[in-house]
Amino acid sequence: MELDLEQAFEEPVDLSHAFELPLERLGRPELLSLGPVRFTGRLEKTEPGFLLQGRLTFDAKVTCARCLVEVPVARAVDVSWTFAPLHERPSHEELELKSADLDIVWYEELSFPFEPYIEEQLQLELPAKPLCGDGCRGLCPVCGADRNVTSCECAEPADERWTALKALRTPLS
Ligand SMILES: [Zn+2]
Ligand SMILES: [Zn+2]
Repeated sequence: MELDLEQAFEEPVDLSHAFELPLERLGRPELLSLGPVRFTGRLEKTEPGFLLQGRLTFDAKVTCARCLVEVPVARAVDVSWTFAPLHERPSHEELELKSADLDIVWYEELSFPFEPYIEEQLQLELPAKPLCGDGCRGLCPVCGADRNVTSCECAEPADERWTALKALRTPLS
Protein backbone atom coordinates (compact mmCIF):
# COMPACT_ATOMS: atom_id res chain seq x y z
CA MET A 1 0.00 0.00 0.00
CA GLU A 2 1.23 3.46 -0.93
CA LEU A 3 0.76 6.13 1.69
CA ASP A 4 -0.32 9.23 -0.18
CA LEU A 5 0.04 12.22 2.14
CA GLU A 6 -1.40 14.59 -0.43
CA GLN A 7 -4.92 13.26 0.09
CA ALA A 8 -5.02 14.90 3.53
CA PHE A 9 -4.08 18.39 2.32
CA GLU A 10 -7.64 19.71 2.49
CA GLU A 11 -9.12 17.65 5.31
CA PRO A 12 -8.30 14.55 7.39
CA VAL A 13 -8.80 11.16 5.76
CA ASP A 14 -9.53 7.82 7.39
CA LEU A 15 -7.33 4.97 6.25
CA SER A 16 -7.55 1.24 6.74
CA HIS A 17 -5.63 -1.60 5.24
CA ALA A 18 -4.78 -5.24 5.96
CA PHE A 19 -1.13 -6.06 5.29
CA GLU A 20 0.00 -9.57 4.43
CA LEU A 21 3.62 -9.71 5.55
CA PRO A 22 5.57 -12.77 4.39
CA LEU A 23 7.07 -14.71 7.29
CA GLU A 24 10.39 -15.28 5.49
CA ARG A 25 11.02 -11.58 5.30
CA LEU A 26 10.51 -10.95 9.01
CA GLY A 27 13.49 -13.08 10.02
CA ARG A 28 11.88 -14.37 13.22
CA PRO A 29 12.38 -18.15 13.51
CA GLU A 30 10.06 -18.33 16.54
CA LEU A 31 7.19 -16.96 14.46
CA LEU A 32 5.05 -19.87 13.25
CA SER A 33 2.21 -17.98 11.62
CA LEU A 34 0.96 -14.44 11.24
CA GLY A 35 -2.51 -13.29 10.25
CA PRO A 36 -3.20 -10.07 8.38
CA VAL A 37 -1.73 -7.02 10.12
CA ARG A 38 -4.56 -4.50 10.16
CA PHE A 39 -4.14 -0.78 10.37
CA THR A 40 -6.95 1.70 10.83
CA GLY A 41 -6.26 5.35 11.42
CA ARG A 42 -6.56 8.96 10.46
CA LEU A 43 -4.18 11.08 8.44
CA GLU A 44 -4.25 14.83 8.95
CA LYS A 45 -2.29 17.89 7.96
CA THR A 46 -0.19 19.53 10.66
CA GLU A 47 2.62 22.04 10.47
CA PRO A 48 4.94 21.49 8.73
CA GLY A 49 3.86 18.01 7.67
CA PHE A 50 1.32 15.34 8.46
CA LEU A 51 0.24 13.26 11.42
CA LEU A 52 -0.97 9.69 11.09
CA GLN A 53 -2.52 8.11 14.17
CA GLY A 54 -4.20 4.78 14.39
CA ARG A 55 -4.33 1.27 15.68
CA LEU A 56 -2.49 -1.85 14.64
CA THR A 57 -3.98 -5.28 15.32
CA PHE A 58 -2.71 -8.75 14.53
CA ASP A 59 -2.81 -12.39 15.59
CA ALA A 60 0.24 -14.61 15.46
CA LYS A 61 1.56 -17.93 16.72
CA VAL A 62 5.05 -18.21 18.13
CA THR A 63 7.02 -20.97 19.84
CA CYS A 64 7.77 -20.86 23.56
CA ALA A 65 11.48 -20.06 23.96
CA ARG A 66 11.84 -22.72 26.68
CA CYS A 67 9.61 -25.68 25.80
CA LEU A 68 8.84 -24.99 22.11
CA VAL A 69 5.04 -25.33 22.38
CA GLU A 70 2.88 -23.09 20.24
CA VAL A 71 1.87 -19.83 21.94
CA PRO A 72 -0.85 -17.55 20.54
CA VAL A 73 -0.11 -13.83 20.47
CA ALA A 74 -2.81 -11.19 19.90
CA ARG A 75 -2.01 -7.50 19.91
CA ALA A 76 -3.87 -4.24 19.46
CA VAL A 77 -1.63 -1.20 19.84
CA ASP A 78 -1.87 2.52 19.22
CA VAL A 79 0.64 3.81 16.70
CA SER A 80 1.46 7.22 15.32
CA TRP A 81 3.87 8.80 12.87
CA THR A 82 4.75 12.39 12.20
CA PHE A 83 5.84 13.07 8.64
CA ALA A 84 7.61 16.26 7.65
CA PRO A 85 9.23 17.38 4.41
CA LEU A 86 12.95 16.75 4.20
CA HIS A 87 13.73 20.38 3.36
CA GLU A 88 12.40 21.36 6.80
CA ARG A 89 14.84 19.05 8.52
CA PRO A 90 17.05 20.88 11.01
CA SER A 91 20.80 20.59 10.72
CA HIS A 92 22.72 18.12 12.85
CA GLU A 93 23.59 20.76 15.45
CA GLU A 94 19.99 21.89 15.77
CA LEU A 95 18.82 18.30 16.13
CA GLU A 96 21.05 17.76 19.10
CA LEU A 97 19.42 20.70 20.82
CA LYS A 98 15.89 19.35 20.46
CA SER A 99 15.94 15.59 20.50
CA ALA A 100 12.13 15.35 20.33
CA ASP A 101 12.37 15.82 16.57
CA LEU A 102 14.20 12.54 16.17
CA ASP A 103 10.88 10.70 15.91
CA ILE A 104 9.92 12.51 12.73
CA VAL A 105 9.84 10.66 9.42
CA TRP A 106 11.34 12.99 6.80
CA TYR A 107 9.87 12.56 3.35
CA GLU A 108 11.00 13.70 -0.07
CA GLU A 109 7.98 12.46 -2.00
CA LEU A 110 4.39 12.88 -0.83
CA SER A 111 3.69 9.25 -1.67
CA PHE A 112 5.71 6.24 -0.51
CA PRO A 113 5.26 2.59 0.54
CA PHE A 114 3.61 2.30 3.95
CA GLU A 115 4.43 -1.37 4.53
CA PRO A 116 7.97 -0.81 5.93
CA TYR A 117 6.52 1.33 8.72
CA ILE A 118 3.95 -1.33 9.57
CA GLU A 119 6.64 -3.99 9.54
CA GLU A 120 8.84 -1.95 11.87
CA GLN A 121 6.00 -1.62 14.40
CA LEU A 122 5.18 -5.31 14.13
CA GLN A 123 8.80 -6.22 14.90
CA LEU A 124 8.61 -4.10 18.05
CA GLU A 125 5.37 -5.78 19.15
CA LEU A 126 6.47 -9.38 18.68
CA PRO A 127 7.80 -10.72 21.98
CA ALA A 128 11.58 -11.21 21.92
CA LYS A 129 11.50 -14.33 24.12
CA PRO A 130 7.94 -15.64 24.12
CA LEU A 131 6.96 -17.99 26.94
CA CYS A 132 3.91 -20.26 27.22
CA GLY A 133 3.70 -19.09 30.82
CA ASP A 134 5.92 -17.43 33.43
CA GLY A 135 6.40 -20.76 35.13
CA CYS A 136 7.42 -22.72 32.02
CA ARG A 137 9.97 -25.30 33.13
CA GLY A 138 11.39 -25.85 29.68
CA LEU A 139 12.95 -28.95 28.21
CA CYS A 140 15.41 -31.22 30.00
CA PRO A 141 18.80 -30.33 28.52
CA VAL A 142 19.88 -33.97 28.78
CA CYS A 143 16.98 -36.04 27.38
CA GLY A 144 14.79 -33.33 25.87
CA ALA A 145 11.69 -34.25 27.92
CA ASP A 146 9.14 -31.47 28.39
CA ARG A 147 9.40 -30.76 32.10
CA ASN A 148 5.94 -29.17 32.12
CA VAL A 149 4.26 -32.48 31.38
CA THR A 150 6.68 -35.15 32.55
CA SER A 151 9.63 -35.60 34.84
CA CYS A 152 12.75 -37.51 33.96
CA GLU A 153 15.52 -39.13 35.96
CA CYS A 154 18.31 -37.04 34.50
CA ALA A 155 20.70 -35.53 37.02
CA GLU A 156 20.86 -31.76 36.99
CA PRO A 157 24.02 -30.93 35.04
CA ALA A 158 26.64 -29.10 37.05
CA ASP A 159 28.21 -27.35 34.12
CA GLU A 160 26.60 -26.20 30.88
CA ARG A 161 29.61 -27.13 28.72
CA TRP A 162 29.48 -30.66 30.11
CA THR A 163 25.81 -30.94 29.08
CA ALA A 164 26.59 -30.25 25.45
CA LEU A 165 29.21 -33.01 25.47
CA LYS A 166 26.86 -35.49 27.09
CA ALA A 167 24.10 -34.72 24.62
CA LEU A 168 26.49 -35.63 21.84
CA ARG A 169 27.34 -38.96 23.46
CA THR A 170 23.78 -40.00 24.31
CA PRO A 171 22.32 -42.06 21.48
CA LEU A 172 18.91 -40.84 20.34
CA SER A 173 16.16 -43.14 21.55
ZN1 LIG B 1 6.94 -23.21 27.53
ZN1 LIG C 1 15.86 -35.64 31.17
